[in-house]
Amino acid sequence: MSEIVTPQGLQAQVEKEILDDAVANAKAKLLKSIKRSAYVYRVDCGGCNACEIEIFASIMPVFDAERFGIKVVPTPRQADILVFTGAMTRMMRVPAMRAYQGAPDPKIVVSYGACGVSGGIFHDNYCVWGGTDKIFPVDVYIPGCPPSPAQTIYGFATALGLLEQKQKRTTHEDTVADQAQINQAKIPYKLRVALQVKAREMSGYLHGKHIADQFMNILATTDGVDVFGDIDRAIAALEDPRRAEVYKALRQVLKSMTIQ
Ligand code: SF4
Repeated sequence: MSEIVTPQGLQAQVEKEILDDAVANAKAKLLKSIKRSAYVYRVDCGGCNACEIEIFASIMPVFDAERFGIKVVPTPRQADILVFTGAMTRMMRVPAMRAYQGAPDPKIVVSYGACGVSGGIFHDNYCVWGGTDKIFPVDVYIPGCPPSPAQTIYGFATALGLLEQKQKRTTHEDTVADQAQINQAKIPYKLRVALQVKAREMSGYLHGKHIADQFMNILATTDGVDVFGDIDRAIAALEDPRRAEVYKALRQVLKSMTIQ
């Protein structure tokens, strides 16, 4: 029996995204030396969902992929890395392409799980194109069905050279000159906080801070012989009765927290 030949236009075809040279070079550089956190966006193209469960397990506190700087982001527009899980199904090809096109170049494409790598157990399904690389240029393959969280982190960390970068990391310790000066450092911390809280409660966040600062300036400049007398004289000199009310409340706070 002779073979039936159908016209080319009727045969299922899929076009693969092609990288231009500039993007390919930028991507190669990013892959070698991504010196900051890597932002990851995930697209399920048609798997059984177990890969997703393992990815979520990888970012939970037990495995904590964020300690390697691997962060999951909610939109492809923020992503450095696109992770495609599941076989590439016909229905998900266009959404997957939208995610790919929405991510800024250079972007790294990770094919995740046996389905992502090759189509897996769904490879010969009528609605499956195959693995991720049928559509996109893939940089990293993480095999497994599903890959465990440890395999997932290992795959990312080795593929992106993150382990090597961690080993060569340098640390910076602030000198005294680098450190921020503490406002009103001579006044005990708990008293400082209580005065600020009270002033802000009565005058709002910004004005409350200014009033608390001015009140604490009185405490910082008093000679300590008659602190409450100095405060009373400062209150009497105020022209604004509302500010005087706040000062009185702060005086009360001070009184309740100091030994008479
Ligand atoms: S690789 Fe395995 S676990 Fe992952 S989507 Fe495919 S069948 Fe499910």
